[in-house]
Amino acid sequence: MTRFAPSPTGLLHLGHVASALAGWTQKGPHGLWLVRMEDIDPQRCRDDYATALLEDLDWLGLRSARPVLRQSANMPAYRATLDRLEQMGVLYPCFCTRSDIARESAGMMSAPHAAPDGSLLYPGTCRSLSAPARAAALAAGKPHVLRLDMAKALNSLRTEVPALWPLAYQDLARGTVQCQPELFGDVVLARRDVPASYHLCVTHDDAAQGVTLVTRGDDLRPATDLHRLIQALMGWPTPAYLYHPLLCDAQGRRLSKRDGAKAVRAMREAGMTPEDVRAAAGYPDALR
Ligand code: GLU
Repeated sequence: MTRFAPSPTGLLHLGHVASALAGWTQKGPHGLWLVRMEDIDPQRCRDDYATALLEDLDWLGLRSARPVLRQSANMPAYRATLDRLEQMGVLYPCFCTRSDIARESAGMMSAPHAAPDGSLLYPGTCRSLSAPARAAALAAGKPHVLRLDMAKALNSLRTEVPALWPLAYQDLARGTVQCQPELFGDVVLARRDVPASYHLCVTHDDAAQGVTLVTRGDDLRPATDLHRLIQALMGWPTPAYLYHPLLCDAQGRRLSKRDGAKAVRAMREAGMTPEDVRAAAGYPDALR
């Protein structure tokens, strides 16, 4: 079972189509292909975009084999996952603001300061808060995120489930990949504005929906190392992974929703057929 998991932050564009077809063409003759809306961010995601994405996919001949899961409606499942991680003692509340982190990171002399996704590596300030200070901040309703205590998570896995060590997964193109989740540091698993995060939700849903092959853009390759760690902590199965190159424009820039002309809707209005659009995304034979 494969899936396409867009965030409804704009209209379906050619990059999405390539990504959707990467999964579709790998599902096998009897396999299923699912669509999931990764819409936990109310600032960026819109219902009308979700509806338009599904309409355009339908026009392209790409229909989800099961009802479309909307992450925004799945919050209790993410909460339950956070509760389990909390019980394991591998989560802690962090009260730092973005500028606190930038200031604290700048004061540290050791490199590197960035996680593989480009975010600032958290210097660990709130990890060492005393229990009374933490309780007081929580009781005062101070806004906070929940972070994974990376060192603790890795240590507990190493000692409790040594058979899983070293953490690895199968990349269909490259074979066994050894993971380095530690490069992410104490990553945020529940945001301040949304009580969940991309890493938490995507890993939860791939497991809960029984996805056996995750096809995703090359940009998300490093994130899989972190997802593998969450799977190990939660005792979830590990799918296989396959990465596809990101579509770029003539200048070599990654296609995004800003490229209005590459929106499937515009192509459709300009008279292109679904087959033309599938071919433009690099999959001329996908539905034959
Ligand atoms: N929702 C993510 C995106 O739109 C992709 C999900 C994934 O493959 O992990 O980039």
